[in-house]
Amino acid sequence: PERATRVRELIADVPDFPSPGILFKDITPLLADAEGLADVVEAFTRLALADGVDVVAGMEARGFLFGAPVAHALGLGFLPLRKAGKLPPPTESVSYDLEYGSAAIELRSGTLTPGARVLIIDDVLATGGTAAAAAQLVEQCGGVVAGLAFLLELDALHGRERLTGRNVDTLLRVS
Ligand code: IMP
Repeated sequence: PERATRVRELIADVPDFPSPGILFKDITPLLADAEGLADVVEAFTRLALADGVDVVAGMEARGFLFGAPVAHALGLGFLPLRKAGKLPPPTESVSYDLEYGSAAIELRSGTLTPGARVLIIDDVLATGGTAAAAAQLVEQCGGVVAGLAFLLELDALHGRERLTGRNVDTLLRVS
């Protein structure tokens, strides 16, 4: 509980970013704090152990910041799930709808061993659209989604409902 309180205090609320009416959760103070960063990486690592994973995947960009250290702590590899156009071909791709328009995420073909149990990590679960696409991409590449883990869940946006039937863990929740 003490640890959770410290981590919570290291996430800043930024009103009206990136657009008016949005309350942005900024994790840069947490990343800058040695204990805070270590606490979060350890907590994700325990989840990964419980889920029995073979490889860790992280969503661009803040999922990389936690996913790669967790993979390293477990002696596992790391798979970057990237925004469209960043990876060289061949890639596997999944498109998903945003509030305005659409986006796609990609995984480099051949980097995910078919049948591997994958833990997907990201910083924030908001509407769940990104996470649902990430899970779909892992499955499209022949992986098994062992779990999805987030630092922070924004309860009011009901992202969990987009992930029904999946193993979802969040370290902190805000209403
Ligand atoms: P979703 O697809 O609506 O669940 O949005 C989740 C994605 O947007 C994640 O990749 C997050 O990094 C990012 N995101 C959404 N809201 C915030 C926020 O308040 N702070 C930081 N990242 C956010």
